[in-house]
Amino acid sequence: MVWHASPELIAAFVVLVILLSSKNMYVELSVRDKLFSVLLHYTIASFIINLGTVATVAYAQQIPLWVNNVVNTLFFAVYPFMMDLLIGYIILYVYEKAPPGHIGRQKSLFIFIGVTYALYLIFVILNLHNGWLFYFDDQFRYIQGILNDLPVYLALVHIICGVSVLVLERRYIDSFFLYVISWFPIVSVFVLIAQILFPEIILSGTAMMIGILSVYLNFQTRKISLDNLTQLPNREYFVSSLYSSLRKGKEFSMILISLDDFKAVNDTFGQKKGDACIKAFSSEIKSYCEEGQLFRYGGDDFILIVSQKNKISCVKKIKERLSSPWEVEGISTKLSATIVSINLPITNAQEKDADPITLLDHFKRYAKSTHKGTYVPFDDTILNIIRRKQTIINTLYESLENHTLRVVYQPIVDLRTGEISLYESLLRMNDAELQAISPAEFIPIAEEIGIIEKLTMTVLEVVCSVQKQLDEKNLPVPKITVNFSVSHFSNKKLMSRMLAYIIDHPSSKGKIIFEITESIFITTSFEEVLTKMQPFLDHGVEFILDDFGTGYSNLSHMVNLPLKHIKMDKSLLWDTVKKGNQRFLLELLQKVAEQMDIELIVEGVETRKQLGYLKAIGSALGQGFFFSEPLEKEDFCKGVAEKKKYLLD
Ligand code: C2E
Ligand code: MG
Ligand code: MG
Repeated sequence: MVWHASPELIAAFVVLVILLSSKNMYVELSVRDKLFSVLLHYTIASFIINLGTVATVAYAQQIPLWVNNVVNTLFFAVYPFMMDLLIGYIILYVYEKAPPGHIGRQKSLFIFIGVTYALYLIFVILNLHNGWLFYFDDQFRYIQGILNDLPVYLALVHIICGVSVLVLERRYIDSFFLYVISWFPIVSVFVLIAQILFPEIILSGTAMMIGILSVYLNFQTRKISLDNLTQLPNREYFVSSLYSSLRKGKEFSMILISLDDFKAVNDTFGQKKGDACIKAFSSEIKSYCEEGQLFRYGGDDFILIVSQKNKISCVKKIKERLSSPWEVEGISTKLSATIVSINLPITNAQEKDADPITLLDHFKRYAKSTHKGTYVPFDDTILNIIRRKQTIINTLYESLENHTLRVVYQPIVDLRTGEISLYESLLRMNDAELQAISPAEFIPIAEEIGIIEKLTMTVLEVVCSVQKQLDEKNLPVPKITVNFSVSHFSNKKLMSRMLAYIIDHPSSKGKIIFEITESIFITTSFEEVLTKMQPFLDHGVEFILDDFGTGYSNLSHMVNLPLKHIKMDKSLLWDTVKKGNQRFLLELLQKVAEQMDIELIVEGVETRKQLGYLKAIGSALGQGFFFSEPLEKEDFCKGVAEKKKYLLD
């Protein structure tokens, strides 16, 4: 008989390519991954034996009989095992996903495959005696025995095992794997039938190649679209399936579940336990909303796509689960999550073309900052808040690009003489649609989107330039304060850029004051703040503690920071004068400041009564609309030139 081995050669070539390109595929090999690697090597080895068999059979007469017998016996012994490795891989994969209670099925399957294979091997050895599989006749010709197709039947039985696993556990397997791998048994059965019909064409390797190709394809797609830890489809996969569903006109809900402060879990229990928590969380959430699809959207963000009618019940289940602790790997911890949901496609006429992902990201940030730990469904009010924020972000970028940000200057008045002691620089931004936007609104957004450094640098440049212009006109150069943001102390590059800029502008020497707030101590230690202040202090830059008396204020900061001025928040003055309930506090602070040789600046002086009170308690400096609103550059320069003085009586 003449065997045709060309399909086998092609299959061998394909498997070799897969073997080479999968060399650096694994980060960390699991048992299953190792099995795949063994499978690839084994398949290549089997191809070699197979081709060796073809060669020995073709030249049987020229080769000693015992060599022919050994090679062919080896061929029968090892060849079907390739298929079993592949089926083993599939079984291991499936039982990683199936509930732990099903592991008994995995064991029984492995035992069944192992025992049938062992019986088959006995058969292969007995063949040397009885020739049921093959034998060589008197002329040394290869003759097929009556059970020559036995390995094919064995493979068929084992394929049936693999198929039953896929059918039995289909609920736990992700649809992509199921889709890719289900082609394998179908095609294999066809190939094996073809093998029985055309025994002279060796096709079993081709069947293997198809199987390996399926698994490899799954690997590659998995690498691209699945999250390693949770095995959930990742953000990229979510994005592409979201757009594809929208294109098809599907209606559904997307629920974002964002774990709050998950860093604390990692910090307390370590990264490994943190990972275990994320894994447990994702698999439980997945089981609660089986009809939906869960994605890992980011580190501690998950997205659930469900039908609109099931949205509420899913959210309810998730919230209920979050109310009890998570017992994972010997630890017990409570998890909190902010949950938001959007029904898609968006029906609001104005927003129907809005990008759902951008909307979701804004919505998440909004919910995290204002409704942390709760569920927020999407509605028109939220849409307006998000739209406004988006407009502010756009305006911020445009203003920076077009240099349309303005700086205004508010006088800080000496309450003993009425003279202007210094000015505070304040940013102004206008938007065609929203008109003037308060810095109280756009500064936190600039901080959030990471452009606050650019804004501070812009203000400093404008302030230094106006001081230079005044100096060049031989006018007195006033001290001007620049507001500092929390993040600046941890931005080394910005700090050195600012210092270099100030040093480069001699007119500003000793005339720049930075206004810092106590929130810097949330991210930076006291010692670190002192160290970072020092080079500025050495170059005549002063620091003021702004908004003292709000949020968390600490007397030790007042006492221990190298300060000449402290700014009292306007609420302190307003409450004192209006209700009289903090009279004692402002007076006490005034006394402490005097002892420390620090001058208090009281913000928010709006009325004569407030001014009278401040004068009575001996406050040094005041800032407020009673004297002046923040001034545009021209008015500010005019005031400086005229040495403007306010009447205090
Ligand atoms: P802040 O640093 O405490 O600035 C003082 C705010 O109080 C200014 O509001 C000022 O216009 C306002 N103000 C002064 N006197 C009175 C008064 O008598 N009555 C009332 N009702 N308000 C008074 P503005 O300019 O809207 O700034 C708000 C906040 O925005 C500032 O508070 C500051 O935290 C931030 N900000 C403004 N400009 C900048 C800047 O250039 N950089 C940074 N990082 N933040 C800035
Ligand atoms: Mg300020
Ligand atoms: Mg203030």
